[in-house]
Amino acid sequence: MDLSKRQETIIEIVKNDGPITGEQIAERLNLTRATLRPDLSILTMAGILEARPRVGYYYSGKSADKILADKITRIKVGEVKSVPTVVSESCSVYDAVVTMFIEDVGTLYIVREGGMLDGVVSRKDLLKTTLGGHDIHKLPVGVIMTRMPNIHMVQENDSVWLAAHKLLTHEIDSLPVVRTVQVVNGKDYEVVGRFSKTNVTRLFVELGEGS
Ligand code: ADP
Repeated sequence: MDLSKRQETIIEIVKNDGPITGEQIAERLNLTRATLRPDLSILTMAGILEARPRVGYYYSGKSADKILADKITRIKVGEVKSVPTVVSESCSVYDAVVTMFIEDVGTLYIVREGGMLDGVVSRKDLLKTTLGGHDIHKLPVGVIMTRMPNIHMVQENDSVWLAAHKLLTHEIDSLPVVRTVQVVNGKDYEVVGRFSKTNVTRLFVELGEGS
């Protein structure tokens, strides 16, 4: 966030002498309270200053970077997730390719009854298979998919920061958003969404619009 010279001076005054009223800040700057109002509202909206009725302004102690960091760790995957595109393990490679085109997605999640996650198939998994001389009408995606337990996932309550970090670390395009289901011999993961690089880009643009 780019601050004007005057806004930086206001921050300095509040840092040194807060809590301080708007009138007192105006006096120090030889300005009217009305002239200062837009600057004070920008600084409070950005979370740099906090205003308490009958007390005045005080410095929140957070830099603009820290405020942005707080924000992206507060936004949860569940708030921005997309609808997942799922197929079953017996779906042919050919039908998987067609589904990708129709649904306009880059990754398919392979599920069994109840929407429980079994695997993931990406564009390049399918391309690689088509180069291999297989009969793609007969070959099921279950044979070529990346399987559990090697799937990276996120839960709705995870932060978008954590999800984006996983996308980068594991060099993948998307993460299934799952809910854990307890079963007799362990855990299953019900697919409830998709978190992809597109979600990150959309959020980035939305956050930029607020500047
Ligand atoms: P592409 O292969 O089209 O570039 P990705 O980078 O997402 O797409 O996939 C790379 C490899 O990682 C593929 O083999 C894919 O099956 C696998 N993969 C994709 N998403 C995940 C995930 N969430 N967890 C584990 N493996 C994944």
